[in-house]
Amino acid sequence: MVRTEVHRITSGTGFRLADHDPRSTKAFDGDKAAALEHQARCNARLEALQEAMYAEGRQRLLVVLQAMDAGGKDGTIRSVFDGVNPQGVTVKCFKKPTEAELAHDFLWRVHPHAPGQGEIAIWNRSHYEDVLVVRVHNLVTKPVWHRRYHHIAAFEQLLVEEGTVVLKFFLHISKDEQQQRLQERIDNPAKRWKWNDGDLAERQHWDDYQSAYEDAIAATSTKTAPWYVVPADRNWYRNLIVSQVLVETLEAMKIGMPEVDPKIASIRVE
Ligand code: AMP
Ligand code: MG
Repeated sequence: MVRTEVHRITSGTGFRLADHDPRSTKAFDGDKAAALEHQARCNARLEALQEAMYAEGRQRLLVVLQAMDAGGKDGTIRSVFDGVNPQGVTVKCFKKPTEAELAHDFLWRVHPHAPGQGEIAIWNRSHYEDVLVVRVHNLVTKPVWHRRYHHIAAFEQLLVEEGTVVLKFFLHISKDEQQQRLQERIDNPAKRWKWNDGDLAERQHWDDYQSAYEDAIAATSTKTAPWYVVPADRNWYRNLIVSQVLVETLEAMKIGMPEVDPKIASIRVE
């Protein structure tokens, strides 16, 4: 059993990031080997549930992934969705905004990538960058980023009320873990392509980012669009939690096969 609810935030009241240990494994009693086994089962289940969802073509799921640099967003997508049919699943990475994007309101670029019927949309970074990096670097004034919390909450409520299930994951790593992972990108030639000089500069703002994450999560956690603060120093635990939440969520969506015309059963293909 995986008690994912221990990592779920449904209200911002009293939320403190410091209360969440990036090395915690408290939702699962087994060891790494047991977790890998459990995750493999989740993965098979996810494959089946996603296929049913695509076939049914009625429901929508949005998965938002946020993390500090080297927090494991890419690895989570690779591992959790391994073997899932890419048809019906989209991954959208949100990078530095283009000129056209900056010429619009901050939600303009994300909304077209919300999932359609039967689809799972995964956002690798998201509209939350507009209250994270934008806040840390004063890219807009405080009154502007501050009012975005309620714009974000309202936007997500719109998605939910129009029938989209919204899940948000903060992959929570420690500062020491980030140091090791960034160093690994330098030391391991196979990982060097991930190196980005900007990551060192961003690391200098660690505390500001943690405060920005804390405020964003506190301001936008609701029962219908919850955050999961996923302990992410251990990849196997992070993958276990995200996989299990996806399976639980899809199961709760009660996906049914589409209704087919009963006459089809009597057709003979000559
Ligand atoms: P990566 O995810 O490593 O490819 O990096 C993408 C970069 O784009 C990160 O440094 C983000 O902080 C940055 N980014 C994403 N969204 C925004 C935004 N709305 N404003 C400024 N920078 C952003
Ligand atoms: Mg990066």
